Parts: sequence; structure tokens; C-alpha cells
Amino acid sequence: MDKPILIIDPGHGGKDGGGGSNELFKESDMALKISKYQQKRFQELGVKVAMTRTSDVYIDSTPRANKVKNSGAKYCISNHINSGGGEGAETIHSIHADGKLANALLDAIVAAGQKKRRVFTRKLESGQDYYFMHRLTGSVETVIIEYGFGDHAADRNRLNKNWKKYAEAVVRAFCEHIGHKYVAPGGNSTKPSQPSGKLYKVQIGAYKNKANADRQSKRAKDKGFDTYTLHEKGLYKIQIGAYSKLENAQKQANKAHKAGFDVYIEGAGQRKPAPAPKPKEFKAGQKVKIKQSAKKYSRANVTIPARVKSKRYTIQQVAKNDVLLKEIVSWVNKVDVE
Ligand SMILES: [Zn+2]
Repeated sequence: MDKPILIIDPGHGGKDGGGGSNELFKESDMALKISKYQQKRFQELGVKVAMTRTSDVYIDSTPRANKVKNSGAKYCISNHINSGGGEGAETIHSIHADGKLANALLDAIVAAGQKKRRVFTRKLESGQDYYFMHRLTGSVETVIIEYGFGDHAADRNRLNKNWKKYAEAVVRAFCEHIGHKYVAPGGNSTKPSQPSGKLYKVQIGAYKNKANADRQSKRAKDKGFDTYTLHEKGLYKIQIGAYSKLENAQKQANKAHKAGFDVYIEGAGQRKPAPAPKPKEFKAGQKVKIKQSAKKYSRANVTIPARVKSKRYTIQQVAKNDVLLKEIVSWVNKVDVE
């Protein structure tokens, strides 16, 4: 089996509940909860991790230190809740360590909202590390994390509420320290980042029938639009763009409208029709052409034949939305002539 790079030590356990216990939680339980969360997260991230305990069992200091020493891990994080009067988080490193990891872990917990107390080391009179997790764990670099004080009212409330945030902060900072790629919980690093906030989606149709959607999509592609078919709530929606600025969505909507599509802009969970571009003003006597995108005459349910679209005509009469073309004696929508 591959060696773990990290071993997590949930402090105390079993008959030893820990001094940081209070009416909201037992230190040993909180330490285990934090540790198991971190174990799961490290596994997700592909960081090889071991544990000194995964249930509520008592392990004496020497076997505990031996587990760490013999784990093959380079690092150990020992999770605790403090007591004895004080507020905020502390990290403790060995007198032989440079303190970089201990500082990084504390900074991360503080960035996640906990109060900062200190990073420190403690020595015995003999000159050895005071804490057995430093003294008896060999070459493993152990950082003891005290997430807060169980006997301080504000601290224990923060811990009870935010322990997962602080646990996650440690995961992130540890990954950064060892140069391992970190991805936030539920995150997907391969997903292209989208502009934050709402998107205005420009759509040219929503169909129950996929064949109809495909046909509309092809029409749009033929006219030079990049299309994307969304399948949402039983409808195939043909999208020709998504924009964080309404202004840009409107520009695209107008372009599609001119190309003969019925357009709407979907955004912020609300569907609203694109503002129709103002029909151009035409005058009688003006020469115009029928656009290639034109579908039907405005006052007859008859398709305009392609040959009719290749010639120029004289406007004989102008109405609100359409014009009468003299040579073919037919009404055509203003949006369909140019
Ligand atoms: Zn403790």
C-alpha cells in the first residue's frame, strides 16, 4: 500500500473526552467530526491520508504517537478544542519545525472567520518538545490545532456552527503547503468558469419535439448563428448566446430578429420577450428588396417564393407594420424589407 502523506489525529476519545468539552459538545467528538470530514475531503482530492482513530476509542499517548511515527506520513495534524481561558484558534508546532505549516493552517482558519490567538512552540526543561505529539512522533512534522476554546461562550458557539468551515480551511491550506491542487467542496475544476451572476439567454424557440428543435437549430446555423440546444423542463430550447450584460443579449436578439427569428431573452429565471426593434420608417415611392429571411406575406398566409426576393420593388403604401409593394401588389412586413 502507498504511504500516506498525512495522518490526522482526532484528539482524545473513549474515556478521555478532553478538556475542551462543554454543554454543546465533547472535545473528543468535535475533534473526530472535524477529522473525519477532513479525511473524506483529502480522499476526494487525492491526498493519501491515514487516521489515528475513526471512532470513539481511547488511545494512550505512546501507542498514539507510535501510530503517527510508524504511519509513513510526512505530516500529522492533531485536532483539538482548547480550554483554560482564552479565545480564538492556536496552532502549535515542534521546536524543530520552521512553523510555516502551523502559520498557514492558523491563517486559513482565521480567514474562515475564527479569531486568531497565536502560533507557538513549547519546550520542556530538558530542551525537548513539551507535547508528546511533537516529542514522540519521530520525523513526522506534527501541527496541533486548537480550533478554539470550549470554555469560551463565543468560541464554542462559533465552533459548533462553523466547524466545517474551519476544517475545510485546513484542507485548503494543507494542499497549498504541499503543492497539491485544491478544489472547493462540490467544485469541478474542469468546468469553465462562467461569468458570475445571472445570464441573459437569447433563444429563438422552445419545442416539445426534438425534430422541430433540430430544424430550427439548422435554420439558425445556416444564417450564421452558433446554436446550443438546452433540454429544460421537457422543452428543447434553441439558444444563440448567453450574456451577463442585458445590452449584449439585446444586440444578439436584434440580430436574430432581423434574420427573421422570433426571439426572446431568458434571464434571472424569468422569460421576457426581447424588445422588438423599431420598424424602420419607409416612405411611399422608396425602392426596397425583400429580405432572404422573410417567410410569409404579412396579410396572406402564403410563403414568399425565393424568386420574388431577388428583385427590387417600389413601396406603394405604408401601414403600421407592413408595406404594400407595387409591382407584386402584396403586403410585406417592414422587418422583412430592406
Ligand atoms: Zn485536546
